[in-house]
Amino acid sequence: MKLDLTYQSFAEIIGGDADLKEAKSKIEVVYYDTRLISRDQKGVFFAIKGHKNGHHYVQQAFEKGVRLFIVSEHVDLPEEASIIEVEDTLKALQELAKYHRSRFSYPVLAITGGVGKTTIKEWLYYLINDHFSVVRSPKSYNSQLGVALSLLELNDEANFAIIEADISKPGEMDALEEMISPTLGIYTGIGKSYADNFESEKVQHKEHLKLFKHANICFALEEQSSPLRRNKINADFTTIEQWEEYGVYDFTFPKNAALVLHVADFLGVHNRELKEKVLELPVLPNRMEVFEGQNGNLIINDTYNIDIDALEQALNYQFTSNERQEKVVVIDVSYVDEDRRKDILQVVRSFDPNQLFVLDEDHSLPEEVFQLKNTSILFKGSFRSDLSKLVQRFKNRKHETWVEFSLRAIQHNIDVYRSKLPEFTKVLVMVKASSYGTGDVNIPHFLQQIGVDYLGVAYTDEGTTLRERGVSLPILIMNTEQNAFDDVVNFCLEPSIYSVEQLNAFIDYLDQKGLDDYPIHLTFETGMNRLGFYLEDVTEIIETIKSSKAVRIKSVYSHLADADNNDTGFTQSQIEKFENIRDSFLAEFEQPIIFHILNSEGASIFGQQAGFDMIRLGIGVFGYTSRAEKDELKPCLKWKTTISQIKTIDPGETVGYGRTFEAKSKMNIATLRIGYADGFRRSLSNGVGEVFISGQRCPVVGNVCMDMTMVDVSHVNCQTGDEVEIIGENITMQEFASNLGTIPYEVMTSINKRVARLYVR
Ligand SMILES: *Cc1c(COP(=O)(O)O)cnc(C)c1O
Repeated sequence: MKLDLTYQSFAEIIGGDADLKEAKSKIEVVYYDTRLISRDQKGVFFAIKGHKNGHHYVQQAFEKGVRLFIVSEHVDLPEEASIIEVEDTLKALQELAKYHRSRFSYPVLAITGGVGKTTIKEWLYYLINDHFSVVRSPKSYNSQLGVALSLLELNDEANFAIIEADISKPGEMDALEEMISPTLGIYTGIGKSYADNFESEKVQHKEHLKLFKHANICFALEEQSSPLRRNKINADFTTIEQWEEYGVYDFTFPKNAALVLHVADFLGVHNRELKEKVLELPVLPNRMEVFEGQNGNLIINDTYNIDIDALEQALNYQFTSNERQEKVVVIDVSYVDEDRRKDILQVVRSFDPNQLFVLDEDHSLPEEVFQLKNTSILFKGSFRSDLSKLVQRFKNRKHETWVEFSLRAIQHNIDVYRSKLPEFTKVLVMVKASSYGTGDVNIPHFLQQIGVDYLGVAYTDEGTTLRERGVSLPILIMNTEQNAFDDVVNFCLEPSIYSVEQLNAFIDYLDQKGLDDYPIHLTFETGMNRLGFYLEDVTEIIETIKSSKAVRIKSVYSHLADADNNDTGFTQSQIEKFENIRDSFLAEFEQPIIFHILNSEGASIFGQQAGFDMIRLGIGVFGYTSRAEKDELKPCLKWKTTISQIKTIDPGETVGYGRTFEAKSKMNIATLRIGYADGFRRSLSNGVGEVFISGQRCPVVGNVCMDMTMVDVSHVNCQTGDEVEIIGENITMQEFASNLGTIPYEVMTSINKRVARLYVR
């Protein structure tokens, strides 16, 4: 995309209220997603209200160098920002696309219909690309937004454009038609009916065909002739028989192939050439990947995008290939809106798979998927859903080190704590440090799904990550840096305030922004001596807060220092101090305030007496408190690796760096795919650490290396590729932690990022 428009001309094209700081500056590209912003190109940011509200990201866009913003709500941006306020930012983008389109007079061919648009687009491109310089919609950009973005790709070097257009309900095509204003068209028909939103098939045809009301010619199969005639569209029909001898029947979509050949022929591609090219038509576009997986499964990995075309192609492939009789579909529909979800699932069901697994926000795979054997498994999701990473597990289990988290255990553990509390007590889960090392967002999404009330993190950026990845629960930030106030407010995060200076700073900040009634949490010192107000501060806090409209106390809390001590004396004294603090607030404020002090260990014993209004769980959720067994918590983590080689060594030979181990007798040594860089620390060298292979404990021999570790398997019947337990049922978290002289918290948070994370139900 290379626009070359000044801010001023921008304002003229899209209209609206412009406040331009540099009217003559130039714009080259359009951004609507801050992740795509490149500092090398001067861009304009359109704050679009889609799956997320783009207005929440303007600050970020500014920081990445954008200076022109198109908005439909008030936004706070630094002085240098130029802002154009319009009624509807998507419409404004469409205006821009329309303007841009009007600058080019070469043919623009639009494709619409129920199915096959993307294949047709890609095939046509393939067939005519030696004759024309073609611009085409990227991926399946065919929505109101996608079409606008596609059109902005038109440029002077091209002389032909192919644009996809898709609608899901009546009334949507007019805007697309105005923008694209196609000279040529391809109509694929409405296919299997996903006609939910349309009154009848007739209406559905009619709505689609609005796209071609000004086109010179629309190409279609003969079988579509009646809707085209009824809607008075200039049409050129073909039949599949006409192209029979080209081998179109070999394709998964023979009709589409015939249609494309017809259009290419019309556009002047020679028959001879067509015949040759047809053989090369890409059979599996859309980044679908097929491989032999473990347990005799055939894995079809199509986790790049989840539009209906791509889905149909993948399913067609799966159901026409006879390599495995059992067909199972695993589909991740998070990031897909309700309506489209229904359509998508309807398409999948129409193929009647033996089993269908639908994954939602937590993206976790049901245990049953791992038990499948000799089955063809289609994995379908969008690139945003992380499914592709999970799929790798089915391919490469034998080549990696991974850590598995059981969501079932997590749910069970939370239920255990709930059973220890009075019914009204809320549960906050601390998901700081990537949820105790379990990964950025999967566990938070799961917690949100199972009805946890609150989340807590240590620092603001942890909160923004959660928001950016779709977590909507209230989020408490323990340690709010002053320079993060903007993010706090933009991402609706709730800061903990621990000093009078910080309280004043935040109030000043809010006053400056003209915000009031912002929820805050006050944290009090009762014995931890880490962060917090003192009891003596209470009067001043109350005065400050009462004299300002800026903030509202959402909660007041403190933190236990010694809750895992069998002697509960100190904990009780903290609870008493906290009760005093609570009384002072209750006496002064009528509004409800949430009081909380218990962590996992505390909740295990004092849940009934001192749960107050909420508890804050952390390690207990994962099943690793000192009272885990008594509380019947389930450990949630399994850490595994595999054997890469087994060697037999003779007495006198040494193993590893520094030659710290010398064999006394002939022995077998297995090299494992794990090292201190994974979190299997070097202090586990020479017998301090043990792993579990085929029912036997195997001590580490020699020094642990960065990426590999050697263990003694002389007494074990094992082979290359075998699974090795690092932590699990046999080597427990407690044992592993105590071998390292540390606690489960540190073990969990020091499993390196490069270790694959897998979530199982
Ligand atoms: C981490 C943390 C928790 C959770 O503690 P666990 O011991 O993991 O249950 C609760 N409250 C605060 C303030 C914390 O920092």
